[in-house]
Amino acid sequence: GYRSRAAYKLKQLDESAHLLHEGETVVDLGAAPGGWLQVAAEEVGDTGTVIGVDLQRIKDIDGVETIRGDMTEEETQEEVIDVAGSADVVLSDMAPNMTGEYSLDHARSVYLARQAFETALELLDSGGDFVVKVFQGPDLDDLREDMEPEFEYVRTMSPDASRDESSEVYLVARKRLTAPVRPGD
Ligand code: SAM
Repeated sequence: GYRSRAAYKLKQLDESAHLLHEGETVVDLGAAPGGWLQVAAEEVGDTGTVIGVDLQRIKDIDGVETIRGDMTEEETQEEVIDVAGSADVVLSDMAPNMTGEYSLDHARSVYLARQAFETALELLDSGGDFVVKVFQGPDLDDLREDMEPEFEYVRTMSPDASRDESSEVYLVARKRLTAPVRPGD
């Protein structure tokens, strides 16, 4: 079994979009308790690499490296980039603590998604994919428009497994168009 029901959302996203492949490097932001990490580790296999990041401690998973930190802090973003080097797939299921005030929860969710997007741009090789959760609301279109020029296409997906949390959607961005310039390139 998986550690979270969220695992089934990633399975459904992967079944329709074919995101995860053997041997790939996957970076998962907002990864605790680790359901997505378990799914990613199965899909990339022994030759792949999976790195998970969260504010919370993540209990050990075979073949998965974890980093504890806040992705809104530059220090954590840099640590992730140092550890991973580069990635084929960047995932973010980050969610803010809910206040119940919808516009605030939406704004904070978009902020987290933008932090994930910035980190993804540092990590993803050309051809790489980025999946990010965001709560629906007025700022979603702007985020999507900012992502579009960086990828071949961006799709908005709502896996069945997240229907009961109806305000969330996943932006699935496929095939990064250009690779980042890294020191030493
Ligand atoms: N995909 C995960 C799984 O399958 O187990 C569930 C992720 S849960 C919905 C969202 C996670 O985002 C929480 O564990 C939370 O601690 C994390 N999170 C929220 N803000 C964060 C931040 N600024 N930096 C890192 N993680 C964050």
